[in-house]
Amino acid sequence: MTPLSESTRKSAEYFSKASEVIPGGVTANIKYFDPHPLIMEKGKGSKLYDVDGNEYIDYLLCYGALILGHGHKQVFEAVTKQMIEYGTTIFGTPHKLETTMAEKLIELYPSIEMVRYTNSGLEATLLAIRTAVAFTGKSKIAKFEGHYHGGYDQVLVSVNPDMELAGDQTEPRAIGESRGLPDYYLENTIVLPFNDLESTEKILRAHADELACTILEPIQSGFIPADQEFMDGLRKITAELGILLIFDEVKTGFRLSLGGAQEIYGITPDITALGKVLGGGFPVGAVGGKKEIMMITSARDGRDILTAGMDNSNKQEPLYHSGTYNGHPLIVAAGLATINELEKEGTMDELFAITYALREQLERAYKEHGIIMQTIGEGSIFNIVIAEGPIKNYRDLEKANLQLRKEIDYKLLELGIYTKPLNRYSMSIVHTEEDTERTVKAHKEAIRRVLNK
Ligand code: PMP
Repeated sequence: MTPLSESTRKSAEYFSKASEVIPGGVTANIKYFDPHPLIMEKGKGSKLYDVDGNEYIDYLLCYGALILGHGHKQVFEAVTKQMIEYGTTIFGTPHKLETTMAEKLIELYPSIEMVRYTNSGLEATLLAIRTAVAFTGKSKIAKFEGHYHGGYDQVLVSVNPDMELAGDQTEPRAIGESRGLPDYYLENTIVLPFNDLESTEKILRAHADELACTILEPIQSGFIPADQEFMDGLRKITAELGILLIFDEVKTGFRLSLGGAQEIYGITPDITALGKVLGGGFPVGAVGGKKEIMMITSARDGRDILTAGMDNSNKQEPLYHSGTYNGHPLIVAAGLATINELEKEGTMDELFAITYALREQLERAYKEHGIIMQTIGEGSIFNIVIAEGPIKNYRDLEKANLQLRKEIDYKLLELGIYTKPLNRYSMSIVHTEEDTERTVKAHKEAIRRVLNK
């Protein structure tokens, strides 16, 4: 294995070893990049340290989950307190903290009246979709091209499709994103064009009788926002057609505002899926929504609710939702500590201010070097897109100069700035001005090295 650079020799060695026992050397396909990913050993505050001892300013932040950075004192204390006072593990029974958290989510998220927990964002969107199918008695789902909702069959469709196969922009084809995906899912997942209300409406109307829900990332991939007009229209049409609207706020939750994208847009979805930040760095997911919808999972009352006024004779039992680790007390404690930190006066504003300042300085730096670049995003996440003109959906990203961006990203790794090449930037409340200054300087140097090669 040829190391990425002279200073990452140990990473290359560990990766070779990992590749003997783990397919592809990674525990999630997304973690790989050429020639080998960096093997990290330690995280502290805004920094990551690899096995060669290199320090990086971390902008991956575990794909956005670590809004307080690595090893935040309050999270550490909440988790250790929970362990010392109440035991190291989950009880497998209801406990007080899960209600405390549910009350907090209800307070923060306009759409949430009741909550169930899962162990990941993937499971949250899966439960959200099953809830919609059960509630409406319809079985197909609609999702948007380029939107990711977790790695399972129903939604591993047209996330990152090949343009040769993807069909017309106004009527995208359903493209499977994995081997082993039965045709069933491609037939039952309708793909919609993001930020194109007219085409979306046309497709939704044509399939209204069979569509249980429309799921979307309000901010695609965390950085391409839905237009307000598009959101308003989508809410109106789905309500009219009896299609439940699911906001996948796994990424946007707590990152755009404490009440997620729905608070910013002033739109109330029927169901919301949460994850990432909610777990304070530990695996978590949650599904919330209107009481009448969420009660479908109620073991006690489900039967009555399900039979009331519904004509699908299959729907005699409550929706099945289970999970040994759902509502794990240590994780809920970490999540509550995280939210508590974010709720402190001025914290979110400061986070947004440092994010926007970095974006502005980066844009200036690229411009100085004659590179047409725009940063796109909302709140505490953004991406660097080397392209002109508006970026409104997956297909617009085709315009971007990914090759140049990638070359710069690789140089940035050598210069101690970490995000996976081509990945977006997530910020934390512990990133400092010193970090952002170093980051801008590193970008300038990376650009210089790439342009002068
Ligand atoms: N939905 C969105 C919008 C996500 O960004 C992700 C994770 N990247 C998921 C769902 C899946 O979450 P998890 O990785 O926790 O399963």
